[in-house]
Amino acid sequence: MMMTAHKQTRSRISRLDRTLIMTVLLLSSVFPVELFSNTPPAPMGFDGQYSGKQGQVLVVKVKGEEQATEVKGTFLSRTIPFFREFRPGEPAGYIGLLGIDMQDEPGTYELSVEVKQGEQAKQLSFNVLVAKEKFAVEHLTLPKDKVDLDEKSTARWKAEQALVKQALAENSRLKLWHSNFMEPVNGKRTGIFGSVRIMNGQARNPHNGEDIGAPMGADVAATNDGVVRITVDHIFSGKGVFVDHGLGFYTMYFHLSEILVKDGDLVTAGQIIGKVGATGRATGPHLHWGVKLNGARVNPYSLLELPFKNGVTLPTPETAPTP
Ligand SMILES: [Zn+2]
Repeated sequence: MMMTAHKQTRSRISRLDRTLIMTVLLLSSVFPVELFSNTPPAPMGFDGQYSGKQGQVLVVKVKGEEQATEVKGTFLSRTIPFFREFRPGEPAGYIGLLGIDMQDEPGTYELSVEVKQGEQAKQLSFNVLVAKEKFAVEHLTLPKDKVDLDEKSTARWKAEQALVKQALAENSRLKLWHSNFMEPVNGKRTGIFGSVRIMNGQARNPHNGEDIGAPMGADVAATNDGVVRITVDHIFSGKGVFVDHGLGFYTMYFHLSEILVKDGDLVTAGQIIGKVGATGRATGPHLHWGVKLNGARVNPYSLLELPFKNGVTLPTPETAPTP
C-alpha cells in the first residue's frame, strides 16, 4: 500500500513537471527567448558619457566582437545608425556619429543604443552633455525683396522646402564614404556657422552652414564619397547640390554658378561637383557648405576632425584657411 501511494505521488509530480516543461517550451516558441529579460534596466548613462558643444559631431563607440544584426542609437528622437569599423590597436566594435544640432538646448540627454543579435537585443545607455556654443551675431543688409518675400515668393519657398524634405526623407542604408572628409573649396572660412542673423534689422533663422569666401568660378569638390540626391535652383540656396553620404549623412553646396553633376550621380571625395557663384540669396560669390547628420544641423568643419582612414586632401595653396 505504502509503495503504491509513494508511486502515485511521484507520478503526479512528474506529470506536473512535464506540464510545466511543455508550458515553458510552448511559451518560448511563441515569445522568443530574451536573454536580458531578467536583468533590471541599467541606470541612465551606465555605459559611458560623451560631451560636446552645439553643432559638433561626436564619435560614439560600442564594443562588440561579434557581427550584430543591427546597432542603432536614439538621441533626442533622432535615430543614429551605427556601422562596423575595424581600427588597428582598438577593440572591435561599432561607431555612430552623433550630431548635436546647433539649436539643441544645453543639458544632459540620454543616448540609448540597441544592439540586435538575431532575436536578442541588448540596450546600452550613455549620457551626452550638450554644452552651449557661443554663436556670433551677424547683421546683414540685403535688398528688401530678398528678405521680405511677397506672396508668390513665399509660396515658391515653401514648395521648394517641401521638395528638399521629400528628397532627403529616405536615407541610403549603406555607408558610402570611406576616407576622411575634406574642405570642398579653398577659400576664406567666415566662421559664422550657427550665427544669429539680423537681416535689415529683423531677427531671422540662424545660419545653418558655413560660408567660404572664394572667387567666382572656383572649383567646389564633394567633401566625401556619396550619391547626388538632388540638384536645385531655389530662391534662397540658388543653384545647389545635396550629396547623400549614406546612413543619414548629407552635405549641401549652395549659391553655385554652375552645377556639374546630375541627380543620382555617384561622386567620390574631391570630385568637382560645381563652381562657386552668388546665385540665390547671396551678397557675393561664396560657397555655403551645410551638413545634416541624422536630422541635426552640425558645423561642417567638425567633419574634418573625424577620424577616418586613407584621407585625401585638396592641394593647399597659401590662401587655404586653417580649420
Ligand atoms: Zn550661408
